[in-house]
This record gives sequence, structure tokens and C-alpha cells, in this order.
Amino acid sequence: MSAARTTLALALTCFGVSSLAAQATKPKPEDTEVWTPVPRVVTPARSDAGSPSDAIVLFDGRDLDQWVSVNDRSPARWTVSDGVLTVNKTAGNIETKRSFTNYQLHLEWRIPEGITGSGQARGNSGVFLASTGPGDAGYEIQILDSYENKTYVNGQAASIYKQYPPLVNAMRKPGEWQSYDVVWTAPTFHDDGTLATPAYVTAFQNGVLVQNHVALKGETVYIGAPSYRKHGAAPIKLQAHGDPSAPISFRNIWVRDLDEK
Ligand code: MG
Repeated sequence: MSAARTTLALALTCFGVSSLAAQATKPKPEDTEVWTPVPRVVTPARSDAGSPSDAIVLFDGRDLDQWVSVNDRSPARWTVSDGVLTVNKTAGNIETKRSFTNYQLHLEWRIPEGITGSGQARGNSGVFLASTGPGDAGYEIQILDSYENKTYVNGQAASIYKQYPPLVNAMRKPGEWQSYDVVWTAPTFHDDGTLATPAYVTAFQNGVLVQNHVALKGETVYIGAPSYRKHGAAPIKLQAHGDPSAPISFRNIWVRDLDEK
């Protein structure tokens, strides 16, 4: 065999081997298919007034069994009438009996028709996504009449109060029901109390994205800079704000615990 022929034969052999190897390692569609674990079945709400099958219903129009007064943990004393929950400003903030870490929250709220006042004094309330103590301690997503009502933008409806303005103003008029759908990722802390990972919030108002995975700077404060204090699972709190305008109302409140396996 001539040198040229030997080279050709070697080349062909090598080609054959490498093409076999290529066939053996050629990616297949099923290489990237995942079959387990199978996501569990959740039945969605049958109507706007309902809740998904795995939700913990916090208010379904009947009673405040899931809620207590923040200050003394006594039964919540807000008003339930005609399937609607209305703030009782003199009774103070209320919060859930249960504590949560990571969750999806749905709630609906309504500024009364004919609301008066301006700025922060016009239907002010709020949802504290983790209530870390009495009063307004925690992380507040603002509730306010922001339909043609000017205020500082990081304090308008759907803001993470004094941290993030909403991406857009998705308000309906006073008298109409509004919805919030919130994904809350709780902060985590090291043993020494320092922050490991911040809280994150994604939120929709009336189906419109208003907060997109924002990293919170700490607990909400009215004056000064926010900061973190170590905490664990915490209740969800609704604010009885002291502004003189008429009290606002809530309905259809439910939560899906994202730590439940
Ligand atoms: Mg508020």
C-alpha cells in the first residue's frame, strides 16, 4: 500500500469512528423532557368571586374568623355586611391569625363612591405583606384612591410605600372594585440577624403589572430609610389608617401558601 493510500484508509477509518460517536451523542428531543415530579392539580376559581382549590380563604363575605385585632389579638372588629368587609378606623389594624412565609395573595378593595379628601387623606389603607409587629410594622403595599388624586408617587396606590412607585396607574374610579394579586417572597436572614436575601414583590392591580419582582430595602417606614429586622413567618395585615375620609371596603381575600408541598 502506498503512503497516500494508507493515509486515505486511516482517514476513512477515523471518519467512520467519529461519525458513530457523533450519532451516539447526538442530542435527542427526549434528553430535555422532564416527567417528574408531576405538578399537582389545582382547580382555578370558577368565577371572579371564587378562589383556587388550594387557597386558604381569608374572607369570603361571611365572617372575620381568620382575622384578629393587631394590638391585642382579640377578635377583629371591622364591619361585615352584605358580603363586604369595611374598615372600622377606631378598631385599628387587623391581621390574619395564620402566619405565612412565601405566598400568592388575592384581594379586592373599593374606595367609596363620593370619597372626599386629597393626597394621602383619601381612602388610605394598605396591605402589610408581612406584619412584623404592632401598628404599621411590616412591608406595606399602599391602598389609596389614586384616581385623579395627586400625591408622592411612591405613596400612591400599588406603591411599595416609600420604596417603589407602581409601574403604571391602573386605578378604577371610586365606587368600583379593584383587585390586587401579589406574589410575596419573604426575606431570609442569617443566624446573626443580618439579611441573607431581600423580600421580593410582584404585583398586579386589576390585572395590570404594577410591581415587577422588586427587591425591598427593608420594612416600610414613614420617616427615614427602610431597614430589615430578622423575622420569620408573619401574618398579613390590613391597615385602618387614621385619615378622615370615609372607610374603604374589601371582599374576596385568599392566599396560596407557596411553602406547602
Ligand atoms: Mg396606607
